[in-house]
Amino acid sequence: MNIVISKIKKHIENNYTQFIKNFLRLLECPSVSTDKEGIEKAVDVIVELLKEVGADVKTYKIDGGNPIIYGEIKGDKNSSIMFYDHYDVQPVDPLDRWISPPFKPRIEDDKIYARGASDDKGNLISRILAVKTLKDSLGELPVNVKFLFEGEEEIGSPSLPKFVINYKEQLKADVCIWEGGGFNKNGRPMIYLGAKGVIYVELRVKRRGDDLHSSWGTIIENPAWRLVSALSTIRDIKGRILIDGFYDEVIDDPEAEELISKINIDRSEIEAMTSNGELIEDLPLPDLLRRWLLSPTVNICGIYSGYVEKGQKTVLPSHGFAKLDIRIVPRMHPDRVLMLLKKHLAKFGFSDVEVEILNHGYPAARTSPNTPQVRLAKLVAEAVSSKEAVVFPNIAGSGPIYLITDILGQPCFSFGVNHPGSNIHAPNENLIINNFMKGILQCSLYLLNFDSWVRLGNAPYLNA
Ligand SMILES: [Zn+2]
Repeated sequence: MNIVISKIKKHIENNYTQFIKNFLRLLECPSVSTDKEGIEKAVDVIVELLKEVGADVKTYKIDGGNPIIYGEIKGDKNSSIMFYDHYDVQPVDPLDRWISPPFKPRIEDDKIYARGASDDKGNLISRILAVKTLKDSLGELPVNVKFLFEGEEEIGSPSLPKFVINYKEQLKADVCIWEGGGFNKNGRPMIYLGAKGVIYVELRVKRRGDDLHSSWGTIIENPAWRLVSALSTIRDIKGRILIDGFYDEVIDDPEAEELISKINIDRSEIEAMTSNGELIEDLPLPDLLRRWLLSPTVNICGIYSGYVEKGQKTVLPSHGFAKLDIRIVPRMHPDRVLMLLKKHLAKFGFSDVEVEILNHGYPAARTSPNTPQVRLAKLVAEAVSSKEAVVFPNIAGSGPIYLITDILGQPCFSFGVNHPGSNIHAPNENLIINNFMKGILQCSLYLLNFDSWVRLGNAPYLNA
């Protein structure tokens, strides 16, 4: 085995206990995005760890938001790699479904259980520990590294756009590794090359006055009926969105199509991820994957109106509200989608349905699988796992990756330490310890090969 790689592996092995300790320290901070106290503790721990590895660290507060932590370490080569992760976490409810307290990390069998273990503290810490590994075992860092860690991802990253625009020069790098990514149940590395965009709106129908006796339902308009009538014009029974022009900008992406054709996961994985949810349409697997990953959609997140408590009450409600998220794919623009939605409602006679924009959202982003940065990630991941990587054109969810790809103009993708049973955003969130360690090695080798790979097309340290 290559002597450099064996040094790195040894270092990770020898520091196993210390690395887990570092991770647990961060997991113990209850950094729910809206809990200021937990946020401060998490920031302190991260700043301390970054300083320990020799980073020049600053924290930035934009409009009173949670601090953005920015760290930079100079390497002895010109290329730069940036890591984006977030230290805030989702709330823990329902608490009674947790087997152990969410901020008292529990190690059982091969996993660590705690809120944030996978989303996203495991990735965040693994990046810092990869840098530590290289510096401690080789005495130098073979590339410049920039850390961009935010504390508001779980509430829609309100500070991040301003920060990226204001500090564009400082954030310049040759690639950005985004949060997420990991290993599937067979241990194959999973790499995601982007994310969908998202818009969040509330449709509101209101009537003058308060609730009425339901006997008026013969002659007085019912906002709940108005709302469901309006909603029913938006999507057909097969899931197709009926808004004129909605799919106009969705174009075939041959690279994405090719990736889809190579994702050989089986149906049971989709069934497991959705608790065996009923399919809108029973399609062959490649078509299901295509729809899941490459299609835009409008989703009803919740509807509320009238009497919804136990038992009965005859009432004609005064209002009906529905919350919708709209997931969009590359080339679709939030402004245009919102305009089309309003036009659609007007066309069907629902001009009285207000469209309240709760989050103006952002566009999708995708990086080509053929960029050298992605090709190296695949090579490294496959060398570390000895298994073929599964490369997804994007996640089915959303993230403001456009800030990196469109504003900074850098390739950006996810490869990390999670697994499909991570329970992110849910009770008993967890991380497989072996994946955490593998992630540190994977990240170390990416850093180690990067400069030579992008300049000379040569990755000398893969024999892992
Ligand atoms: Zn996350």
